Amino acid sequence: RAKETGKGRTVLYSPRDQGPPEHDISLEAAMFKAVREGEFLLYYQPIVDARTKVIEGFETLMRWKHPTLGMVPPVRFIPIAENNGLINLLGAWALKAACMQIRQFQEVAGRELYISVNISPRQFRSDRFLSELDDALAMSGAEGHQLVLEITEGTLMVDPAHAEAVMEKMVERKVRIAIDDFGTGYSSLAYLKRFPISVLKIDRAFVKDLPGSHKDAAICKVVLDLARHLSLAVVAEGVETEDQLAWLDEQGCHYVQGYLTGKPMPANVAVTALKENLYTALLPADTRTGKP
Ligand code: C2E
Ligand code: MG
Ligand code: MG
Ligand code: MG
Repeated sequence: RAKETGKGRTVLYSPRDQGPPEHDISLEAAMFKAVREGEFLLYYQPIVDARTKVIEGFETLMRWKHPTLGMVPPVRFIPIAENNGLINLLGAWALKAACMQIRQFQEVAGRELYISVNISPRQFRSDRFLSELDDALAMSGAEGHQLVLEITEGTLMVDPAHAEAVMEKMVERKVRIAIDDFGTGYSSLAYLKRFPISVLKIDRAFVKDLPGSHKDAAICKVVLDLARHLSLAVVAEGVETEDQLAWLDEQGCHYVQGYLTGKPMPANVAVTALKENLYTALLPADTRTGKP
């Protein structure tokens, strides 16, 4: 249910997904204050090796801790921010915060990790995007190869020539590109040829009914096959059960992310998770228990 607005063809959730419009207006007003008051924070969800359960990286997921409403989920506030432009501010902040956090995570783990950050369509199209990326890398001391930026199929399709130019600059910086929610957007196999993509994230919609659903199983197999032939990494999103994990691992899906192997968590909890994961990471691969 993507909606096109204005000349920028911004992809938005429909108001139905956002709840009643009156509420959105008050939420929007509260957002400006929230930015000033620093009510936004990042949660981190582990992305793990499907076989060994070793944490390879984290996806940053934005949270808004509203003083009276509690945690406002991103599906409610990201579309508003995308619409009014606040996403540029929030996105630049998230990029910096994520790059700074990855250094602490690596110190704790004593090994290389990566951080995967969601980039909204409007942020990706912004003239300031590349300089904000450079600032985030420079001020944090993080390296480009430690950063994965997640964009959606819709972001690529808005202005493919511009997307291509921006992605070339990202590749120069060794920053990897992931296609988020793969298969749910304006899918076109042509963009897998055209753009320098490194990672496909299989959307939860195709994972949640595994392994029972024949259709979902077929779709996942085809995506994994395609990725193998194109040398792309695959992350399966929304893995909640051992059965899903076992099936995905069997099909050659190397990385998973989901409640089973770790919910989105604050940075200090992620540090604890990394410490607990340390033992797993140190064991020789063939003796790992497979328990996180
Ligand atoms: P996404 O990037 O596809 O993120 C995955 C979403 O799935 C997250 O929802 C995560 O909490 C949820 N999830 C992970 N594992 C499971 C699972 O096992 N079961 C279920 N049911 N859900 C799972 P979240 O955090 O609510 O974020 C929703 C969306 O909001 C994200 O989808 C992303 O599109 C957007 N978003 C979040 N943070 C940011 C951000 O910093 N910038 C931008 N532009 N968008 C963001
Ligand atoms: Mg994502
Ligand atoms: Mg996703
Ligand atoms: Mg999603």
